[in-house]
Amino acid sequence: MSHEYSIAIHGGAGAMSKGKLSLEQEDEIKAVLQTIIAEGLANLKEGQSALDVVQKAVNRLEDCPWFNAGKGAVFNHEGKHELDAAIMCGKTLDAGAISGIRFSPNPIDVARSVMDNSPHVYLGGVGAEQFVRDHSLPEVDNDYFSTDMRFQQLQSALKTQSVILEPTSNDYKFGTVGAVAKDRHGNLAAATSTGGITNKEYGRIGDTPVIGSGTYANNSTCAVSATGHGEHFLRHVIGYNISARMALAKENLESASKHVVFEDLLSTGGSGGLIAVDSDGNITLPFNTEGMYRGWGTSSIPAQSLIYEE
Ligand code: ASP
Repeated sequence: MSHEYSIAIHGGAGAMSKGKLSLEQEDEIKAVLQTIIAEGLANLKEGQSALDVVQKAVNRLEDCPWFNAGKGAVFNHEGKHELDAAIMCGKTLDAGAISGIRFSPNPIDVARSVMDNSPHVYLGGVGAEQFVRDHSLPEVDNDYFSTDMRFQQLQSALKTQSVILEPTSNDYKFGTVGAVAKDRHGNLAAATSTGGITNKEYGRIGDTPVIGSGTYANNSTCAVSATGHGEHFLRHVIGYNISARMALAKENLESASKHVVFEDLLSTGGSGGLIAVDSDGNITLPFNTEGMYRGWGTSSIPAQSLIYEE
């Protein structure tokens, strides 16, 4: 089946045991996800580009303190926040990525600006922050990102000297955010934004900003945004892996995505999930954890959202 336009979003994969969230909380989260999808569908219907639509959807998720991106991002070992983000256009293969940024409220906007206003794809750390200043992009204090829930998570991680990987922790948590879309012009795009993982080492970079790993888009195959244990997503080059299976092995979106989530990732113990869309606007949202916050809709399917397998 072909869809004129489509969008999917995620708010992280995780082992949020059913019952940890109250039914009211579940409904509230699902309503937020559905609202963002409904806005995305309206923008796509109006003819906006997939690139603009995924950026806007990620902006909304970054601004929501429940999720581990922008406001509400996790703490690193030093008790600070270091944020990563990437965006990619499937038509031109233009991409922008940043990592280790400490004072931009919406890291996805910085990634987009790197793509639009620099000759580079990826800026890291102090160089990325210099870019923010040079381009007069918005700045906030690092504690703008702090929330009590994330502070408590750091305290328990410090006690046990563990690095809490959002997707595998037993507590209920909200993770990395991302969006993929196909627009009416047939173009695909992907965007992902994260605070990384709780108690991560200073300077640690996961899969999210790495083009081809946590974020990838190519009109000839698919657009992908991933969430999960980043080290494994990096090792298996998840986004490009799906695209290559489609291009070279002629697999369809669903079978290529399931292969990387249930075979490649699990073969090294990697947990998580992803959202992906193909050039016909088909959507897939596989995950190998108990749940993944997710929403989707197309020109023919109204806004939907789910947390668990249903
Ligand atoms: N993939 C992200 C990272 O490893 C974390 C997540 O998706 O929750 O930085």
